[in-house]
Amino acid sequence: MVPKADLSEDEQALVEKVISGEVSSYKIDSFTDRETAVMIRRYALEASSGAVFEHISNYSIDVDAATKRNIENMVGVIQIPLGVAGALKVNGEFADGDFSLPLATTEGALVASVNRGCSVITRSGGANVRIFQDVMTRAPVFKLENVIRSRQFADWIRNPDVVEQMKAKASETTRFGKLLSVDPYVTGNTVFLRFSFDTKDAMGMNMVTIATEAVLSLIKDQFGAIPISLSGNMCTDKKPASINSILGRGKTVVADVVIPKDVVEERLKCKPETMVDVNYRKNLLGSVRAGALGFNAHAANIIAAIYLACGQDAAHVVEGSTTITTMEMTEYGDLYCSVTLPALPVGTVGGGTNLATQSECLQILGVKGSGTPPGSNSKAFAEIIASAVLAGELSLVGAQAAGHLAKAHAELGR
Ligand code: NAP
Repeated sequence: MVPKADLSEDEQALVEKVISGEVSSYKIDSFTDRETAVMIRRYALEASSGAVFEHISNYSIDVDAATKRNIENMVGVIQIPLGVAGALKVNGEFADGDFSLPLATTEGALVASVNRGCSVITRSGGANVRIFQDVMTRAPVFKLENVIRSRQFADWIRNPDVVEQMKAKASETTRFGKLLSVDPYVTGNTVFLRFSFDTKDAMGMNMVTIATEAVLSLIKDQFGAIPISLSGNMCTDKKPASINSILGRGKTVVADVVIPKDVVEERLKCKPETMVDVNYRKNLLGSVRAGALGFNAHAANIIAAIYLACGQDAAHVVEGSTTITTMEMTEYGDLYCSVTLPALPVGTVGGGTNLATQSECLQILGVKGSGTPPGSNSKAFAEIIASAVLAGELSLVGAQAAGHLAKAHAELGR
């Protein structure tokens, strides 16, 4: 390998040891500071892969902070283009005003499409949006002796004194999190306990995992049940699941708007009736026929772009993709459209929200950090995302109703 000017002799030797396998990539941090470790790992990877990391090596984020909380074996960053759509008028309980939406994507035409939806909604008076539930869940799984013991366990868990003790135990691990309920689900001698927490401005997965683990020690001491796994998949985290669609997970958010007939015709170049028909046959019938858990046109597109921009856990797009979109005619011939997001995990503190670029995007929306009162920022954020999904649905269904979809992608995305 050609010696690198920015490395000392010792560091150069470390690169060679990583390449030869004498030092594992994850151990580099124990020989040097975090910034240099990133460089050494990158040079070793360049040498072994033959690639040149001219762009992966260019970044301004704080390596110390990122490698402590967000990434292991860091070699650099990936850049994703960031666009802005809006202004989008949102009539929420927590987000009330006009918002510019930061969207990180590589899909040409997406920002333009959301932008068009925003203009239609804003022109029509804004998106009405409300949060119906706000819980983050974790569901450990237990193996009991038999169904008699399963029943005793379920009864014990529901005992109000036990519930109070579990809440107190959970509160020892977190200042902001609150255990709200624990619901047992039985399958033979297997019992799942679905813990639901209010996590305020945090998305809360780490918070609830730590708090649930603390409660498990209480359950073991007092009932003698030992968990098989801290997560038994009835949470359900990062997998499409009906339980989240029915009971909710993260924020359950609903947004709607009435678009006057003339705005549909002028901006979306089609008729409200045609959009209603496209929505019925595509988003509802098509999704049923396909066995889908989501009944929407492309909610995941908008959620993914905002999640990437704003430091959310991208895998939670899975939950957001179960959005249900409805469209119907009003008695005046206008278009009513709603989106229901049963499970939208979001946070404005913790996770990736502190990374510099993601933090700047949260600032665009005015929801960075802890809200006053706590929880109000993440709720405002969820209301904005639901309204943005509404914009995306209107624009795409409109494009399909007008027969413009392929044209827009050909012009903007190729
Ligand atoms: P976190 O970064 O682990 O913790 C956030 C912390 O911020 C909270 O625990 C809380 O401290 C503190 N905080 C300060 N102000 C707050 C406010 N206003 N509201 C709420 N909390 C406030 O984040 P997290 O949200 O718990 O977890 C998100 C991370 O979990 C993401 O990185 C995600 O990728 C990852 N994740 C973990 C799992 C898992 O199983 N562990 C699964 C999926 C994803 P206190 O607790 O002291 O109140």
